This record gives sequence, structure tokens and C-alpha cells, in this order.
Amino acid sequence: DASVVMRVRVAPLGVNHVLLLAEDHTHARRVEEVRRDFVANVSHELKTPVGGISLLAEAVLDGKDDPEAVTRFAERIRVESTRLGRLVQEIVDLSRLQVADTLHEPELVEVDEVLDEALDRVRVAADARGIDVTLGAERGLRVFGDLELLVTAVTNLLTNAVNYSDDGTRVGVGGRRVGDLVEITVTDQGAGIPATEQERIFERFYRVDAARSRATGGTGLGLAIVKHICANHGGDVAVWSEPGRGSTFTMTLPVAAAPADTDHAADDDL
Ligand code: ADP
Repeated sequence: DASVVMRVRVAPLGVNHVLLLAEDHTHARRVEEVRRDFVANVSHELKTPVGGISLLAEAVLDGKDDPEAVTRFAERIRVESTRLGRLVQEIVDLSRLQVADTLHEPELVEVDEVLDEALDRVRVAADARGIDVTLGAERGLRVFGDLELLVTAVTNLLTNAVNYSDDGTRVGVGGRRVGDLVEITVTDQGAGIPATEQERIFERFYRVDAARSRATGGTGLGLAIVKHICANHGGDVAVWSEPGRGSTFTMTLPVAAAPADTDHAADDDL
């Protein structure tokens, strides 16, 4: 929607002077639309698992005489409620990230620590699928930010890399400094993403293949959360992908100068 709503007031101040007051309503209107869409999407996304759980609970009650069926339904209830819990948590996380445009108390964060912790969090899921995750990052990179949020962002990218790849494939995690930026990359040999979808995957609840996303327990919020975390750190996230070959997601964050650099900068100031 490219329409621009402008309220223009022209006040004559004299023969040669005109005061022009223009107010741009585009942004405010867009924010309101996004908020309304989000509320509509959230209620839809929550109603689906809640409806599923109550149907399963009825099935348990109906099937009291068939212990095997009861066990099966109870297991489905467990899976669905775990997913529902994750969905609620991610909605809360995303709302918090949206409310605060910037970080509360940024600290010096070691990128090594972020990557190691994120790798630990996906290790079990990757091993279960025979997916080999390798880390090849420059040592000693540092950024200013929030360790837990950065771990969440990289974990989300790694979880997707595992979920959207075939068993036995490889996933790579990289970190390097490029000028004033730190680049963190997550590369997979998975399904890939068609060019026309690449912009949209960062939108809340957007999924290329909804069935596959649900099957892997996806919420459709992972990449929206990554994008917000990067933005809050003064950075960004981008995707390169070719269907059938795989995808690379790249987070770019402003580098925090190493102590040696800081000394050097101080010398320059003298
Ligand atoms: P989801 O919970 O569905 O994975 P995300 O926001 O993390 O939600 O991702 C949005 C969509 O982008 C996914 O549903 C999937 O279609 C696509 N996608 C994300 N990462 C990858 C990847 N590494 N390979 C292929 N498709 C991906």
C-alpha cells in the first residue's frame, strides 16, 4: 500500500512567506494495519491448537475403554500443548522486541559464546536426523548486545536449517569480521526458498510450506524474531537461497572494537 495521506496546512504569513505544515500519516496508518493483522493472526494461530487439544480431550473421554487409544490421544495432547506453549512464548518475545526498539542494557558479547550455546541447543535435534553441524568462525569476535537474544536468533536460524533439510545433510555456522560488521552465517543443503518467497519469510506467521512447518513444530515466528533481534542490535538479516541447493542466512551486526582497537583509537585522538 503505497498511498500517502498528507494533511497540509498553508498559513499566509505575509506577501513573500507561506508556512507549510505537512504531517505524514502513512507510517501511523501502516503501524495500525500491522497491529490489526497481528491480532487477527494471533487469534487464528492460537485457536487452531486449542481446538485440537479440546477435540483430543473429548476423544480421550470417549475412548476410556480402549487404553491404547487413550495413550495415543494423550501423547498428541502433550505434543500439541508443547507447541502451544512455544507459540505463546514466541508471541510474548516478539511483542517485547517490538515495543522496545533498542536494547535495554547492551553488554560486550563474545560471538564464540553465542555460536557455541546456539549449537548446543540444536545438537540433539541435528544428531537425531544425522545432520552434521560444523562451526567455522573467526575467534575473538565481539559485538555489543544481549547474549540471550543473540543466542535465540542464531538458534532460530539453526533450527530452521535442521528442520528444512534432509537427513544426513550438512549445516555450517560461520562468523567473520567484514569491515565494521560481524557476519554470522548459517548455511544448509536443504529445500531452499523460491526467490518470490524470500522477502516474505521474515513476516510474522508467513510459511512457504505450512504443512512442513507444522510437521516440524514451527510457529511461523522464528525469522520475524531473528529480524527484530538484529534490528534491535543495529544490524540486519538477509537470505541467499536456491531451491534444491540450500540456503544461507546472514546476520550482520556492528562490530565492538577489541581492546587493542580501542587503545589505538585513543592514541589517534591524542
Ligand atoms: P517456521 O516456524 O515455519 O519455521 P520461520 O519464521 O522460522 O517459521 O520461517 C518461515 C518460513 O521460511 C518457514 O515456514 C519455511 O517455509 C521458510 N524457511 C525458513 N528457514 C528455511 C531454511 N533454512 N530452508 C528452507 N526454508 C526455510
